[in-house]
Amino acid sequence: MTSDIKIPAFEATPIDSIPQIAATVRQSYQSQKTKDVEWRLVQLRKLYWGLTDYSENFQAALKKDLNKPPHDAILSEIHHLIQELNLTLKKLKDWVKDDKDIEYPWTFSAMKPRIKKEPLGAVLIIGPYNFPLMLNIAPLIGAIAAGCTAVIKPSESAPATAMAMKEMVEKYLDPESFVVVNGRIPESTALLNEKWDKIFYTGGASVAKIIAKKAAETLTPVTLELGGRNPSFISKSTNLALAARRLMWGKTLNAGQVCLSQNYVTVQRDVVDDFVKHLNVVYKEFYPNGAKTSVDYARIVNEQQFDRIKKMLDTTNGKIVLGGETDRSDLYISPTVVLVDSVDDPMMKDESFGPVWSIIPYDTIDDAIKIMNTVDPTPLSLTTFGSKAENEKILSHVTSGGATINDAWMHGAISTLPFGGVGESGMGSYHGRAGFECFTHRRTIVEVPNWMDKLLRPRYPPFSAPDFKRHLWMTSTKPNFDRDGKPLSGPGYWLWLIFGLGGPSAKGALLRWIVLLTSAYAVFSRYRSGRGLEFWK
Ligand code: NAD
Repeated sequence: MTSDIKIPAFEATPIDSIPQIAATVRQSYQSQKTKDVEWRLVQLRKLYWGLTDYSENFQAALKKDLNKPPHDAILSEIHHLIQELNLTLKKLKDWVKDDKDIEYPWTFSAMKPRIKKEPLGAVLIIGPYNFPLMLNIAPLIGAIAAGCTAVIKPSESAPATAMAMKEMVEKYLDPESFVVVNGRIPESTALLNEKWDKIFYTGGASVAKIIAKKAAETLTPVTLELGGRNPSFISKSTNLALAARRLMWGKTLNAGQVCLSQNYVTVQRDVVDDFVKHLNVVYKEFYPNGAKTSVDYARIVNEQQFDRIKKMLDTTNGKIVLGGETDRSDLYISPTVVLVDSVDDPMMKDESFGPVWSIIPYDTIDDAIKIMNTVDPTPLSLTTFGSKAENEKILSHVTSGGATINDAWMHGAISTLPFGGVGESGMGSYHGRAGFECFTHRRTIVEVPNWMDKLLRPRYPPFSAPDFKRHLWMTSTKPNFDRDGKPLSGPGYWLWLIFGLGGPSAKGALLRWIVLLTSAYAVFSRYRSGRGLEFWK
């Protein structure tokens, strides 16, 4: 029973212990133990048991922090992570293998070029409050898989989950390699004053700028997972009842505190009224007695966020066509839809990150595209419910971190797909294999055999003109395009194909043709003489 679970009071990590914590995880990384893939697998398996054993603690903590229904706590946080963990456990031995499927001129084949996957080192993960477990532990899975050590700094706005996470990490993972630091801005600042090999940040753009600036001082790489004003598209071709149901789900889960959920929907003017009717129907289906009394509806995380969202409703010039109820004492804001007629409306100016969103009518698809590219040219997510041709046009004319056709943010609900923003919605991606790669350095390695020194002669002084000429003869390339940048066609193409063999070196290709034709002749003559093709006989 989650109600029996004791949730410890929030306690900030002493600031003066932070340099030592950073030093500990760095020493642990330098000890080389994380390079052992079996060690990483053990940590990941322990994390699996930690999440499983602490499932009820997390459900209770998430209920306390966000009134998150246990159903959502399991599906969108705990189970989501378990799925990602299972994939990582299954695939890690493949992911860590050297990458040999890389492209290089054939003349370098003897050097056996490969890419070795190396951990980046000791990393810092800073998380937000809305999925306070999942958005800290998912990057941690990638960090462990890659062989990094990590300090995790959860959001102080979800204090119960932050404390439960600290307890779980301390109990299940190697304490020298993985540490949760709890706190507010001073603790975060103390962490940023340490040197990290990567900073992985999820949250708002203004804090992201502080982090990126600080990271730049030490040339520390960053992954930034931010938000955006995510658009959606509806036309006369849309199944309005289905779109209303799916978008309502997208904006009521976690009371709309989902970075991927729609900020506004562009709706073809002729179907606006119908769409609003369907939204009202689906609201009653989801919450027959209203969302306020439903056990399935979360709350806004705190007064500050409540006031921010309420201000959008108070200042809009639009018309509320669904919901609009608020109760600060309960941090309740009902699912609310506002019909607006301008991209300058306050509802369109800010990221809602709550259960409120707008409908903005359009006349032509080009108008809808213009609206989207004016409001936010690089949102985190885009969803489109049009015909096949309309969806393709929207996807090709409006960019976003990720996109879903015919549903709300489903691309972000599959825990093993790469996930990340573009432009102002962030940089880098993670989850599944992308999570491993996010914390991995791809180190290029070649091995030059002794015998190759003869071939390498042209690089040594004193430079020799004949050697240099021979080198160029072997490695020079013949283009398969003309001076206007157009691909060769007609006789030019056939000459390129025969003498270039589709490869980089015309003369090298000639040699290969000679080998090919000689082999073909050998095969043909054995066949004709009746000796068969068993060359070993
Ligand atoms: P936030 O920016 O307020 O805080 C995020 C983290 O930054 C917290 O851990 C906080 O302690 C820390 N922080 C705050 N001030 C800091 C400072 N001065 N220096 C260093 N660290 C500091 O973000 P939030 O309010 O928790 O999250 C909401 C935002 O996050 C929204 O914009 C949302 O779209 C975005 N978000 C993005 C994703 C994603 O995956 N792309 C996921 C969730 C939320």
